Amino acid sequence: MSGHEQRYIKEAFDTNWIAPLGPNVDAFEKEIANYVGVNEAVALSSGTAAIHLALSLLEVKNGDRVFCSSLTFVASANPILYQGAEPVFIDSEPDTWNMSPQALEKALVDASIEGKLPRAAIVVNLYGQSAKMDEIVTLCNEYNIPIIEDAAESLGSAYKGKPSGTFGEFGIYSFNGNKIITTSGGGMLISNNGEALQKARFLATQARDQAPHYQHSKLGFNYRMSNILAGVGRSQLAVLDERVEARRRVFDRYYDELGQLPGLHFMPELTDTRSNRWLTSLTINEIAAGVTVKTLLETMADENIEARPVWKPLHLQPLFDGATYYPHSETENVSEQLFHTGICLPSGSNLSEDDQKRVIQCVTSAIQLKVR
Ligand SMILES: *Cc1c(COP(=O)(O)O)cnc(C)c1O
Repeated sequence: MSGHEQRYIKEAFDTNWIAPLGPNVDAFEKEIANYVGVNEAVALSSGTAAIHLALSLLEVKNGDRVFCSSLTFVASANPILYQGAEPVFIDSEPDTWNMSPQALEKALVDASIEGKLPRAAIVVNLYGQSAKMDEIVTLCNEYNIPIIEDAAESLGSAYKGKPSGTFGEFGIYSFNGNKIITTSGGGMLISNNGEALQKARFLATQARDQAPHYQHSKLGFNYRMSNILAGVGRSQLAVLDERVEARRRVFDRYYDELGQLPGLHFMPELTDTRSNRWLTSLTINEIAAGVTVKTLLETMADENIEARPVWKPLHLQPLFDGATYYPHSETENVSEQLFHTGICLPSGSNLSEDDQKRVIQCVTSAIQLKVR
């Protein structure tokens, strides 16, 4: 927490605005919209809810297809199943670890020949790094496919000077406890399409028709953010830039201290992009480093240091068994490669220099012991 949350929470209690919605929600929406430079934003109970509403607004229904990055957290694709639609997973490319334009193009060509183009494409910005949006937007425009930009992990990042999350028809952010800023749980749907977002507000509050009695003609959800949590979000947003600086410092320290070790390759930052470096991630070439990812994770766990593998690609998840998958090329399966060799280091904005030194020493000795 930033230390200023209590002020907004107290204000909510003092004015008795406890119920969902209220002045903090309105203000938080305006502040996020201003921060990233879009017309409007809708505060929701989670990032997952935001993706679900976006699909709903794009009228994705039973039997429709939706393209989605494969290397991501399951929440990116779960809403495709909520709508009864079929996910088609697209591999990563090595420069950003995000959606491969090459694989996307192949998937679009195939779908077009088949006469079954997707209703939407969910493009994820992993660990704060933007996908190759120019290439992806160009391809999607060519085939008229609306993009939902999953920027749950990349709030505060930019691609060619433009804020992450603002490249599609819709963008989504998450304020889950593990994200760069948090409301304990929450999300935001953003767009320049004010009419669509008005409809999102309607759908997110049980789709209640204009009538004195309770009348409903559309299927709705209970997806709005509470006025108390929006207060937490406002004070968190005020420190977002500091958080980005802190996470980038954490990354830089790791890079300076570990970058020279054999077999370690840090997640790149594409030219003209600025990552919030939500998590410092790297790959390990097990032969050069002399240590497997598994052993390194165990060695760190023994020292009470929590590190994690990178996301398991969704096309490998039992939940999505049988889903179509497009690899980067016939010989390159980038997301699987990253899954087998990737690791995320402790990267909290409040990670102390001493704690970080401990992580660096642990990794260094695990690798040098083996190499010697
Ligand atoms: C966290 C996350 C989400 C989901 O956000 P919630 O607020 O937890 O529902 C979606 N996509 C990605 C890539 C995430 O990391």
